[in-house]
Amino acid sequence: MDNQYDVIIIGSGPAGDTAAIYASRANLKVVCFEGWQPGGQLTITTTVENFPGFEKGIDGKQLMQEMKKQATVFGTEYVSKDITKVDFSGQPLKVYAGEEEYQAKAVIIATGAKPRKLGLESEETFWAKGVSSCATCDGFFFREKTVAVIGGGDSAMEEANFLTKFATKVYLIHRREEFKASEIMLDRVKANKKIEILTNKGVDEVLGDQKVTGLRLKDTQSGETSELTLDGMFLAIGHIPVTDIFESVEKDDLGYIVHKENTMTNMAGVFAAGDCVDHRYRQAITAAGMGCQAAIDASRWLEDQS
Ligand code: NDP
Repeated sequence: MDNQYDVIIIGSGPAGDTAAIYASRANLKVVCFEGWQPGGQLTITTTVENFPGFEKGIDGKQLMQEMKKQATVFGTEYVSKDITKVDFSGQPLKVYAGEEEYQAKAVIIATGAKPRKLGLESEETFWAKGVSSCATCDGFFFREKTVAVIGGGDSAMEEANFLTKFATKVYLIHRREEFKASEIMLDRVKANKKIEILTNKGVDEVLGDQKVTGLRLKDTQSGETSELTLDGMFLAIGHIPVTDIFESVEKDDLGYIVHKENTMTNMAGVFAAGDCVDHRYRQAITAAGMGCQAAIDASRWLEDQS
C-alpha cells in the first residue's frame, strides 16, 4: 500500500504547516491534507502585521504559500483533499478522504476553526447573495454600496476598515457597548469617516428579495426593532473549531480538542495543534508554535514506540 506514512497532518494553516516543517526535518515521511480551506484562515485575511519577521507586514496568502514551500523543501507531500472520516481505534491510525484510506503511526490534527454564523434562516437564504464572512474575498462586489459588519472583536474592526476601500458606507454593528477588539484596531475604526458604529444592536433578520436589501435590527436593551437599508452583511462574530469528524478524540464543551499529555490527545499517537485546540490566543504565531510542539511530541513518541 502506497498511502502509508509516519505522520499524517490534517490541515494546512500555520499549525499544520509548521508541524510539517518540523516533522519532515526530523526525517519522517509526512503527508499534509490541505482540507476545506488550503492555507487556513490567513489566506482570507489582508496584511498580517503581527507575525514576527516582517517589518512591513506580509500578505496572509503569501505567508501561507511560503510556509508550504518551506515544508515541501524538507519533503512534506501536500494533498488537496479533505479528510472525511478517521479511525483511531488502533495502530496503524487510519484517515479517509472519501473512500481513499491513508495510514500513519501518528496523526497531527490541525483543522483550525471556521467562521461562526448568527443562526438565522434568512442568513442562509442570502448567503453569497449579500451575506458573507470574508471581506477580502467579497469586498470587491460592494463598490459604491452600503454594507454592515457584525461583531465587536478585532476581526470586525479589520473587516470594517478593509470594506471602506470599496463601500461608500460601512455600519459596524455590535450587540454590546464594550468592544472585545484591541484599542489600536478600534481607534482606527473610530477614525474612519466612512464607518458608523451602532452598539447594542443585534441582527433580527436579513431582509431581501433576490439579494440583500437590508437588516432588521433589534435593540439588545430596549427590544425595539428598526430597519437599515443596505446591500451586504459581513459576519465577524468569531469562530467554531472544525473537530466534528474526530468522534473518539476528547473535546471540551465548545468542541475544542483537549490535550492529555503535552500536545497528545486521549488517543495514542494522535496530536492536535492550533485553533482546533486553542480558543484563548488564536494567533498565527501561537498556532505555528503549537504545530512545532506537536511535531516534536509526535517525533519523540514515534521514537519511544520503536
Ligand atoms: P472575538 O471572539 O474576539 O470576537 C467576536 C465578536 O463577535 C465579539 O465582539 C462577540 O460579541 C461577537 N459575537 C459573537 N457571537 C455573536 C452573535 N451570535 N451575535 C452577535 N455578535 C456575536 O473573535 P475575532 O474573530 O474578532 O478575533 C479572534 C482572535 O483573532 C482574537 O484574539 C483577535 O485579537 C485575533 N485577531 C487579530 C487580528 C490582528 O491582530 N490583525 C485580526 C483579527 C483577529 P461579545 O463581545 O458580546 O462577546
